[in-house]
Amino acid sequence: MSGLQRESRFERGDDVVVMKFGGTSVEDAAAIRRLISIVKSRLSSQAMVVVSALAGVTNQLLEAGQAAAAGHLGSALATVRNIYVRHEQLADELVDGAPHVALDRELRSEFQELESLLHGLEESRQLDLRAQDRLLGFGERLSSKLVTATLCEAQVRATHVDAQNCIVTDARHGQASPVWEATNQRLQDALSPLLESGNVPVVGGFISSTCDGVPTTLGRGGSDFSATIVGAALGASSVEIWTDVDGIMTADPKVCPEAQVIRQMSFDEAAELAHFGAKVLHPATLAPAMRENIPVYVLNSRRPEGEGTEIVARTRTSNAVSAITAKRKVAAVEIQSPQGVDAEVLSAVHAAFDQHACPVDIMAASLGRVWLLVGSTAPLPGIANDLQGVAEVRWENHKALVCIVGENIRRQPDVASRVFAAVSDMAVRVVCQGASDRTISFLVEESKVDESVRRLHGMFFPQAEPVRDWGGISSAFCQAGCADSSSSPPQGHGGAT
Ligand code: ADP
Ligand code: ASP
Ligand code: MG
Repeated sequence: MSGLQRESRFERGDDVVVMKFGGTSVEDAAAIRRLISIVKSRLSSQAMVVVSALAGVTNQLLEAGQAAAAGHLGSALATVRNIYVRHEQLADELVDGAPHVALDRELRSEFQELESLLHGLEESRQLDLRAQDRLLGFGERLSSKLVTATLCEAQVRATHVDAQNCIVTDARHGQASPVWEATNQRLQDALSPLLESGNVPVVGGFISSTCDGVPTTLGRGGSDFSATIVGAALGASSVEIWTDVDGIMTADPKVCPEAQVIRQMSFDEAAELAHFGAKVLHPATLAPAMRENIPVYVLNSRRPEGEGTEIVARTRTSNAVSAITAKRKVAAVEIQSPQGVDAEVLSAVHAAFDQHACPVDIMAASLGRVWLLVGSTAPLPGIANDLQGVAEVRWENHKALVCIVGENIRRQPDVASRVFAAVSDMAVRVVCQGASDRTISFLVEESKVDESVRRLHGMFFPQAEPVRDWGGISSAFCQAGCADSSSSPPQGHGGAT
């Protein structure tokens, strides 16, 4: 967005606060009441709300779509009926009178559309990513309408704004990227008059559409990204991500109950953490905030008085390591070329992955081979086919990438040796240090990921529980830029895994 466009709408300092509430922060009537009081506490600013689907709804919609496409229409309709009843019950509990009648009408019409979509899926026996985006979008369409009506009932002047009319993306269904200029313009056009007149706009997160109006989504967990997209378009003074934990923590508290809240992080650090699997933020969330230098706060909607985590351009911390994270369900792809991996082979590999829209996470190369990590093995048979005659492609799945993140890792060389000491008896492969100044990452078997994270947490945050169960597995790892030569070879070949 150009500064000029923003000037025409908002000056910095207009104090726009974007508040995003995740699924658990709208999961039931009590959660929605907490949301209302949080929104009310921000009304001295120009406040706006981005809301996720009610907890569990996106997964249920996906199940319903899969069931319908498999011919089980009855079970698909029953799942959707449960979603309908849940929303209706909340509407009954939270909204009265004429607004209730209007909301009821809206929910009904959304559900009719949803049911006819499921009938269509049963007929076509196919749930492609385009249909899936349309289907999953219903979760946020419903929750945003429910939350708008509830805020109005609580005397907040809230107005529903359809995100599918405002956030414009490319057509990469399932993981679309914003078309920034159109998105910024549409968001400013739709939201600024409302904010200026003291309204609280409410938009569904996660959902968007192409410039032709075909529904898309920003990828699972994408409501966080919606919040910063909106914040950047409005030149917001802050973006608040309201969730179910006290902030960003030194590890996922579900894996390490002793994890502690990180008070402040840099954009770069938090972006690395999100990229390497910390579910608390969608990986793309921080880019728009970073671009516009908008502080992002991660806060607990169940404990709104907590300080949470502040994410800003620069931090004061002197800790070498801020957090340990892990990305699960990755596959390690080995690409070997008899002629050696030269620029020509690399460019063919790049083209093949691009052609199959297969994002690559990490790469290590040596003379004869390249290692890539990917999140899904589905496109790999096609890629292997495209590369026939150029390179041999093999892969192994059920891997996880463990990552140590810290702003000061680059200044403290002993971090790497401490990491390897903590996991020295585990089968660790494709170690990557130096590609980013702020991370050290390595690959482990998925079954070992929690243990690795806990050991590293115990090592770098020693006030936590003592390190347990050091196992007894042989180590085999390689440094960045050097493909593993000592560990067991990948077992998968072609479409075998
Ligand atoms: P929401 O529905 O609010 O978007 P998510 O479930 O997407 O919430 O993200 C919050 C969850 O992220 C937490 O419950 C926690 O288990 C998980 N998580 C993973 N890594 C971290 C971390 N480093 N700090 C905090 N939470 C984390
Ligand atoms: N409801 C979507 C999901 O479950 C988006 C989000 O919650 O951020 O992935
Ligand atoms: Mg989330």
